[in-house]
Amino acid sequence: NMSPEAYRAKHEITIIGNESPAPFTTFHSTGFPMEMLREFQQAGFSAPTPIQAQSWPIALKGRDIVAVAKTGSGKTLGYLLPGFMLLKRLQQNSREGPTVLVLSPTRELATQIQDEAIKFGRSSRISSACLYGGASKGPQLRDLERGADVVVATPGRLNDILEMNKVSLRQVAYLVLDEADRMLDMGFEPQIRKIVRQVPPKRQTLMYTATWPKEVRKIASDLLANPIQVNIGNTD
Ligand code: ADP
Ligand code: MG
Repeated sequence: NMSPEAYRAKHEITIIGNESPAPFTTFHSTGFPMEMLREFQQAGFSAPTPIQAQSWPIALKGRDIVAVAKTGSGKTLGYLLPGFMLLKRLQQNSREGPTVLVLSPTRELATQIQDEAIKFGRSSRISSACLYGGASKGPQLRDLERGADVVVATPGRLNDILEMNKVSLRQVAYLVLDEADRMLDMGFEPQIRKIVRQVPPKRQTLMYTATWPKEVRKIASDLLANPIQVNIGNTD
């Protein structure tokens, strides 16, 4: 049983921001429902990764987060599971639009995120749609029509579908910008800003990035409200 300070030191976690809660060092301490905890067991995971341990309690309190961490650190479940808890609480009708929106730079990454959402959301009957370019829109539109609690999308394809009026973002309460630095490198900033203008300002926003250059700092300061910043390892 380690103190928050000792856990953070051991895992090279640094926090910037006020009132940051203690990390969840075990799955049990998260308070996630039994059926989700069972998924961790089945996946053979023994403990939360440092980014999960520190970002879960922050996200579950409803706070905005900017997390700077390298790839392979378990960020996907770090943001998905608190989003699932919010979904369960809000109980919105998925046919009116998603509650959770995840923006991702590429088709490949978006697909991987949706795979995790399916696996960990199945027991809670969470539905999802994955929207990306380079594939026909038909099946993606059908998934939206059926109702998707979670939409994982690349910015370009989501804007195409928004322009067709085939999805509404007015119910989005939890917005994730995954691999934000890469999305900006790929020139998606105008697309991202256009999407965010359609999301209610009263929302929770989480941004994940591997690097922390000034372009990323700028968009974080524009889109996040009083965030807690979590850095894992050496991030400069
Ligand atoms: P990132 O987005 O930080 O690059 P991912 O979320 O893609 O990382 O996770 C990387 C891998 O680690 C995935 O295969 C994922 O299933 C696995 N993983 C996630 N959480 C844990 C955990 N708590 N323990 C062990 N492996 C985990
Ligand atoms: Mg990732």
